[in-house]
Amino acid sequence: MSTTFGQSTVLGYPRIGGNRELKKAVESYWAGKIDAATLENTAAGLRAEVWRTLRNARLDAIPSSTFSYYDHVLDTAVAVGAIPQRFARLGLPPLDTYFAMARGVDAEPALELTKWFDTNYHYLVPEIDADTTFTANPANAISEYAEAQTLGITTRPVLVGPATFLLLAKGADPFARLEDLVAAYARILTALAEAGVAWVQLDEPAYVADRTPDEIKALHRAYTALGEVEHRPRIFVATYFGELGDALPALLDTPIEALGLDLVAGPGNLSRLAAAGPLGGTTIVAGLIDGHNIWRTDLRAAIVTGATVTALADHVAVSTSCSLLHVPVDLSAETKLDPALSARLAFARQKVDEVVLLLGRALRDGTASLPEPLPPAPAAWRRDDVRARLAALTPADRQRGSYPARAEAQQARLNLPELPTTTIGSFPQTAELRRARAQRRAGTLDEAGCEARMRAEVEHVIRLQERLGLDVLVHGEPERNDMVQYFGDQLNGFATTEFGWVQSYGSRCVRPPIVYGDVARPAPMTVPWSSYAQSLTGKPVKGMLTGPVTILAWSFVRTDQPRADTADQVALALRDECQDLQTAGIRVIQVDEPALRETLPLRKADQKAYLDWAVGAFRLATSGVADDTQIHTHLCYSEFGEVITAIDALDALDVTSIEASRSKMEVLDDLAGIGYRRGVGPGVWDIHSPRVPSHDEVIDALRRAVAAVPARRLWVNPDCGLKTRGYPEVEASLKRLIAAAAAVRGN
Ligand code: GLN
Ligand code: ZN
Repeated sequence: MSTTFGQSTVLGYPRIGGNRELKKAVESYWAGKIDAATLENTAAGLRAEVWRTLRNARLDAIPSSTFSYYDHVLDTAVAVGAIPQRFARLGLPPLDTYFAMARGVDAEPALELTKWFDTNYHYLVPEIDADTTFTANPANAISEYAEAQTLGITTRPVLVGPATFLLLAKGADPFARLEDLVAAYARILTALAEAGVAWVQLDEPAYVADRTPDEIKALHRAYTALGEVEHRPRIFVATYFGELGDALPALLDTPIEALGLDLVAGPGNLSRLAAAGPLGGTTIVAGLIDGHNIWRTDLRAAIVTGATVTALADHVAVSTSCSLLHVPVDLSAETKLDPALSARLAFARQKVDEVVLLLGRALRDGTASLPEPLPPAPAAWRRDDVRARLAALTPADRQRGSYPARAEAQQARLNLPELPTTTIGSFPQTAELRRARAQRRAGTLDEAGCEARMRAEVEHVIRLQERLGLDVLVHGEPERNDMVQYFGDQLNGFATTEFGWVQSYGSRCVRPPIVYGDVARPAPMTVPWSSYAQSLTGKPVKGMLTGPVTILAWSFVRTDQPRADTADQVALALRDECQDLQTAGIRVIQVDEPALRETLPLRKADQKAYLDWAVGAFRLATSGVADDTQIHTHLCYSEFGEVITAIDALDALDVTSIEASRSKMEVLDDLAGIGYRRGVGPGVWDIHSPRVPSHDEVIDALRRAVAAVPARRLWVNPDCGLKTRGYPEVEASLKRLIAAAAAVRGN
């Protein structure tokens, strides 16, 4: 049995398949079109393909259990027996219990879904309380290990580590259960050793965020205990997405055999490692290749970093900074990218080559011939006009007139009733609309034909809103496939891939655009749609844009200049769009920023700088309009408690609509707490469920809102866009919402 770790590895690999085979198989299983055995066959095929790919690339330390039918945190929950009673008692077969936890069933809502650190991947939040009985269920890890062995490939099973698992869980003080959980991990380790496993990887990314001294002590206790397990594989603790801080010496002080450090997102890990003193026999797994972005590695710089690690530790392996889960599978599938751009890119498959062929060898032999550095970026990617505009910006460009004056001017122009009603932007994306867009892509429908269908839809949506009696209308966004890609497709400096899919959650995959050059807007992006919608009605129609922070959060962003500068370039394009909308007679413009919270840095010390530029970019995008143009934003997908003062700092903003119905309007207390004095529309209808809310539920939510916010500043709207809903529920629910507003107004 090999006891050395190996010299090259990755912390994980995409599991969806190059053509999203997993998505298709899993969705067919859910739809009852294939049985469990067929699904399992597809899964085994995908796993084998990944292992063979990694072996053929000559990676010498290969992970297993990085496959998942839905989510790796859920897999770890199952491995430690953390299946909440509410699912266990359904008495379903294991695979269906698993999917019930992931997606919910009629009687039981799913586990909560939330963002995995600062990525756009979502994990399922384990539910842990005093009654959770942890058990050791190593069967899946063992069978995957055995599956790879039959291919002649020795692997290292991966699980989420016990401390991170509990820090991500919810319930009454899950972390208090660490000792019990560690006991279950100890039994898993022994079972793995008995199955012949030489190394196991336990992921502890939660320790790159701020942690209390007690949490760090608990981590130390956990790995000391696991280290003392008599019969066990060697333990590799992987950390990623940032700097470990005090947890670094704590982990080195335990009997673990290998520690993984992210040297891309956490360059400071290096000095911390140097300060830690002699490393003994501990292997340092150096995360030198960025697993969270798609740029080719600057190998010369990476070698310098790698050499520093080699000087500090006797045993060093080269790795990706995090799992490759967060990047698309294979660049060679792309046929339409500008060659100058694709020469600069590396997707998962290419990153494996970077790890193995170049750094693995260069670090070992010190003589590897590195490829030539890339020539400078093509001049056409640079826009001197955009750069000059950015350089000339002054604070006045991020400042609007005072809010009271704006509010008065807007009310004079819009003449809205108290508790105005509106929606968040999209209306149902019907099969008919999707078909039209697909036919357009396939070339069976021409541009004009496609546009005619979309215009018919806009008209239908406007008529429906008028009939229902909404106060501020939307055009419904039928022309948009995705709220970021739609803008990426129209802006210079952005590229779209054909197959660059990345798992977002479960079977849902996204294809983030790539921001590679200076951003400019060759032509108005939304004006024709908004002005067409406005031409159909006397009521105000909201223009609908995606904000700069969200556009970057859901793209792969260039790293050759500060993100703040790229955000400002996007903001300038949006600023021009706002002004063009205003000129076209649009009186209300909504600039969505649902990802404002998502890309908040994990460490408090870094958060202020982020919020400063994020808020600055939003203000730049939105402050170029006249006082009587009303600026809205929409926030969702997260709890905004932590960034609440930033919302207030979005000075150009007049009205915020915010997801609130599940959290029972807590956000209103948060906003009251900071003395927020502008308009707010807490969602009063949870659009994530197909249920039509009862009249009383909506009234109830609204009354709670009125108690917290004066009626003249309160808006009435759903939680989020309606694109995933069907027309019957939308009509019924909007009727309730409008009736509730009328009833509460009448009091
Ligand atoms: N305007 C977008 C829509 O309604 C907002 C999407 C979102 O809430 N994230 O679809
Ligand atoms: Zn939303």
